[in-house]
Amino acid sequence: MIAKALLQPVINATGVLLHTNLGRAPIEFHHPARYQNLELDLVTGARGSRQRGVGELLARASGAEAAMVVNNNASAVLLVLAALARGRGVVVSRGEAVEIGGGFRVPEVMAESGAHLVDVGTTNRTRRADYERAVNAPGSEVALVLKVHPSNYRVEGFTESTSVKELATLGVPVVADIGSGLLDAACPWLTDGPPTWLAGEPAARQTLEAGASVVTFSGDKLLGGPQAGIIAGRRELVDACARHPLARAVRPGGLVLAALADVALAYLRRDGEAIAFWRMATTPVAALRARAEALGVGAVIDTVAVPGAGSGPGAEIPSVGVAVSGDHVDALRLSSPPIIARVRDDMTVLDLRAVDPTDDHLIAAALRRL
Ligand SMILES: *Cc1c(COP(=O)(O)O)cnc(C)c1O
Repeated sequence: MIAKALLQPVINATGVLLHTNLGRAPIEFHHPARYQNLELDLVTGARGSRQRGVGELLARASGAEAAMVVNNNASAVLLVLAALARGRGVVVSRGEAVEIGGGFRVPEVMAESGAHLVDVGTTNRTRRADYERAVNAPGSEVALVLKVHPSNYRVEGFTESTSVKELATLGVPVVADIGSGLLDAACPWLTDGPPTWLAGEPAARQTLEAGASVVTFSGDKLLGGPQAGIIAGRRELVDACARHPLARAVRPGGLVLAALADVALAYLRRDGEAIAFWRMATTPVAALRARAEALGVGAVIDTVAVPGAGSGPGAEIPSVGVAVSGDHVDALRLSSPPIIARVRDDMTVLDLRAVDPTDDHLIAAALRRL
């Protein structure tokens, strides 16, 4: 049925806040049927850049000199490598020549960019001296060092990696693909500061402060915005990316740029409540429990939600849901609006952390209909 294949709002009762199959971060965006000053400079009346406004906002929010937006983080990495390193070497730790999922494989992206991979170190341990040797090898022509955050897995045990701070002293620009889009480890947009489950997640501001020349990240992971990729860092490098012919092929449309500008403005206002992802991620457990009890159907249970989308692998967010006996996920998914739930121990569990409170009555009604 085509109707069921059409994109439509769904209720995410899985407890996975950034659910890849459900479009990662939920965004709210209203746009009237009007033209936009997409490439018109309202001050001069001349042709403008679609990137300028939102780029300025994202640069400010992440402490970068400049920023630009592309279609997703995979395009961001591809464009950075093509614009800054085509025909030259890019040094990557063997522990970071990874596949992030959905076909994003560092060696393949590198090959497509026209840069060549110079891999150093070993899978579990790479030291500054390994990078240094590669950068200084006679005739090596190294353009960049690339650091890739191993978003969705962890290497444990006898491991060692080199920090951006150490890499920044090698004499070539360091590009850090931080993936998740956490803007600032201090989370100034949250009244209670960073939640404990966020520990260890690299943030754009601190990575740039540590000496990275450029960071790349997704718009729809911890940033909580629409699907996009952000390139932020030193102005001349961001400008070189914007001038590259590939930039045209990976440029986002006005809807995405406007939605992202809304999110960036919320960060600059320090208003985490205006960003659905952060609102959901930081709802107190007591508030979720009260909502679960108010549903009046099913048994109220403690659950464990996760950030998802490879952000903070292993991170757990205490949550609350309701459980009904038996497997009803198909019926719930086919209800209108679709409700996506999970089965555990022959019980259907609906986690409320990623559910908008205004949808609670829809969940109660669907459970009563079962
Ligand atoms: C998620 C992720 C990507 C891919 O980002 P998309 O926005 O899905 O293209 C690349 N690198 C890292 C480190 C990631 O976490």
